[in-house]
Amino acid sequence: MIPTIDFIAERFDFFNKLCFCSKLPTPKFAISNAKSYAGQLKFRKNPITGKAVSHKGDDFKITLSRRFDLPQEVVEDTLLHEMIHLFIESGGRTDTAPHGRRFTAMMDDLNHRFRRHISVRVRQTESSSEGAVPDSRLHIICLMRLEEGRNVLAIPARTRIYQFMDMVERLARVKAHIWLASYNPFFNKFPRSLKGKTYYITPDEIRKELADAFPVKRSELGLHIMKQLHPSPDFGGCID
Ligand SMILES: [Zn+2]
Repeated sequence: MIPTIDFIAERFDFFNKLCFCSKLPTPKFAISNAKSYAGQLKFRKNPITGKAVSHKGDDFKITLSRRFDLPQEVVEDTLLHEMIHLFIESGGRTDTAPHGRRFTAMMDDLNHRFRRHISVRVRQTESSSEGAVPDSRLHIICLMRLEEGRNVLAIPARTRIYQFMDMVERLARVKAHIWLASYNPFFNKFPRSLKGKTYYITPDEIRKELADAFPVKRSELGLHIMKQLHPSPDFGGCID
């Protein structure tokens, strides 16, 4: 979906009540065509402390880029990300870094309590943001090279990803493996596996179909897609 101001305003109110106990002041909303970020929080900063000079809603602006045709829940996650920044900044709260301990603790808490998705931080390629994306389901794929040199992949069910991650480390016949995230509809045809069923994939398919995939890393906060989302010059190196 492509976000509109009305959509952002409606979702902002909804999440403000649901996730922030209506504690957030209402900022200005804007839509940009930016390629360099999917979402951004802008406000005037004290040049010395780096903190917001005003805590009034009007002095903050959340901008979402309309350049990325992302699934609604990913757009909402981007908005929620900016709302956490707004919570910290408009409340005059401190953090250890732009995405420091307070930010990540809140993000983790919202993900957990409201079943928001893992921290999906994707910058779509130009071609996929311009074309209609027929089905932009996110696939978390484990690509494995077996002892005999063949490649297989598995797409575990979301509820089994962590178990599968642990298991694959212990499989002797898996010589190497990597976790990747992809929106490529090519992967729609592979059933989500509860038991880690694998499918052969040719080197050509890997090159073609996984060219735009992003590496996935696991941390104690969850899964992270390793791609920068919004290097925001106004946020002092705020990079997702
Ligand atoms: Zn950020």
